[in-house]
Amino acid sequence: MSESFDVIVIGAGPGGYVCAIRAAQLGLKVACVEKRETLGGTCLNVGCIPSKALLQSSEAFEETKHKFADHGILLDGVKLDLARMQARKGEVVTANTKGVEFLFKKNKVTWLKGEGKITAPGKVEVAGQTYETKNIVIATGSDSAPLRGVEVDEKQIVTSTGALELEKVPGHLVVIGGGVIGLELGSVWRRLGAEVTVIEYLDRLVPGIDGESAKQFERMLTKQGIKFKLKSKVTGATKTAEGVTLTVEPAAGGAAEDVKADVVLLAIGRRAYTDGLGLDAVGVERDDRGRVKTDGHFATNVPGIYAIGDVIAGAMLAHKAEDEGVALAELLVGQAGHVNYGVIPAIVYTWPELASVGETEEELKARGQEYKAGKFPFMANGRARAMGDVDGFVKILADKATDRVLGCHILGPDAGTLIAEVAIAMEFGASAEDVARTCHAHPTLNEAVKEAALAVDGRALHI
Ligand code: FAD
Repeated sequence: MSESFDVIVIGAGPGGYVCAIRAAQLGLKVACVEKRETLGGTCLNVGCIPSKALLQSSEAFEETKHKFADHGILLDGVKLDLARMQARKGEVVTANTKGVEFLFKKNKVTWLKGEGKITAPGKVEVAGQTYETKNIVIATGSDSAPLRGVEVDEKQIVTSTGALELEKVPGHLVVIGGGVIGLELGSVWRRLGAEVTVIEYLDRLVPGIDGESAKQFERMLTKQGIKFKLKSKVTGATKTAEGVTLTVEPAAGGAAEDVKADVVLLAIGRRAYTDGLGLDAVGVERDDRGRVKTDGHFATNVPGIYAIGDVIAGAMLAHKAEDEGVALAELLVGQAGHVNYGVIPAIVYTWPELASVGETEEELKARGQEYKAGKFPFMANGRARAMGDVDGFVKILADKATDRVLGCHILGPDAGTLIAEVAIAMEFGASAEDVARTCHAHPTLNEAVKEAALAVDGRALHI
């Protein structure tokens, strides 16, 4: 029998590695099993970090080509060096994954390299060795959901992983799925010169995000050159020497049409990943979508086995996984670990960005909650004007009776950063009046948040 631990975490993504570090900080003897060559999971290796590196680079390219002249900066012969852009992305990823390796050493977390399998409660097998542990944490994350008739080869028909690795800008990129990942990666390749068409089954983009914001977002992306085919479903894909031909039908049924693409990005969502973990043998229950079932404290039905992150129900976001990792580590030592699921920001990192926290107008109406809405456009914000980024708005939703902030939806420059102040306000149970009476520095984009809070009571000053 090999070494024994207090906690063995399986999976070193943001849920797993953060849980391992926090548990070690709290004095537990911790190991983390990871089968990838590098730590950091989907997020650091093939998700959040490489996509943001390419979003940053492609936006810089777009700015030099189309925005700098307006600032009086004239550049001739701006060219794309895609190989360098991809290499830079790789450097960013390596710096981050090595950073987690350093943190494991610093916190004395043992990295067990290889695929982890739960052979019994309290027993995990890795690379032919069995390790004993008081607690097991499943943090094995998710992978891309497949679509019948569309076979991924990661060259012509790619998931997000392949879309991050393209060596050539496709002539025509067709994205299946108008969610966050499809729109972010579609934006990257459009900025770099591809014609981009997004095919979406629903009649709207980014389901779950405030409807008014999503509609305006669609208009902005259309203005940028992305084409949308909503209410349409892809029923098949045929590869040819020239590219891929997709068969597309109206979602409600009707005549099919062919859509030709050089590269197809399949981005219809992600599904929990539990392959090879041995869950059936130990009797860990899953729901109808394959997610590990947990109670309010991340415990599965098998004592001593817990689960966090993308592999359980809830938003598939890195910060949700991280917060669950911290909460679970604290619960394991008898502390009051907790995640407030009502205040988890969600962001689309296009430009402008789309950010959201709390409830949408649709959700408030559905549960019969009376609310007031305050909206302020970036067009009326001095800093946004100085930046030349005037598209979009901040919308704050507050309880009609108590004025407590219930949600905020921001479409505009740096929306993903701006949303944090509203998340903090909501965490503290603030009213719109509290946000409005907080002194906001001038000239900042955050003043648009303050003005939206004032607008909740019809008192915006600059519109
Ligand atoms: P993961 O990060 O998926 O990590 C699970 C790890 O477990 C993997 O490394 C896997 O190799 C390992 N593993 C699985 N099974 C085993 C086993 N049996 N033994 C050993 N190891 C195993 N979220 C955001 O919040 N912001 C973003 O900007 C964002 N951008 C994204 C962009 C893309 C392209 C993608 C694909 C995702 C993005 N996400 C983003 C989502 C985010 O990556 C996930 O929500 C997050 O990674 C989930 O963390 P996790 O720890 O649950 O699992």
